[in-house]
Amino acid sequence: MLVEIQPDSARPCSKKKRRKEEKETIEAREVETTQDEEANFGVRTCSSVERLDYEEEVCLFCEEPGCTAGLHCACTHDINRNVRKCAIELEDSFLLAKLAAGDMIAIEAKYHSKCLAALYNKARSA
Ligand SMILES: [Zn+2]
Repeated sequence: MLVEIQPDSARPCSKKKRRKEEKETIEAREVETTQDEEANFGVRTCSSVERLDYEEEVCLFCEEPGCTAGLHCACTHDINRNVRKCAIELEDSFLLAKLAAGDMIAIEAKYHSKCLAALYNKARSA
């Protein structure tokens, strides 16, 4: 098994600033487009807003967008390590394939806390 102990494990989470900018962009767009969208579609859904040209963020585990439950940023090495460990223990090829692309920090993985908890529980009872 690969050991990924890096001396810079305390590197700052660069997501924080970007998240804020993304949020501001979305809010600005919602204000601009609310009238048009309501005229065109009647009902404005969360996903229709996010799909305009904004890269939709989905949960690493269930691939559902985070608009209802909220997604967390997997920007700590602890989460990355734990998820990788669980995926290996469970031989979860679905997750392993995703993690093969890079660690959760590199691929900017997002997750539902309930999905992460479910994975941990599954690994614990395996
Ligand atoms: Zn999920």
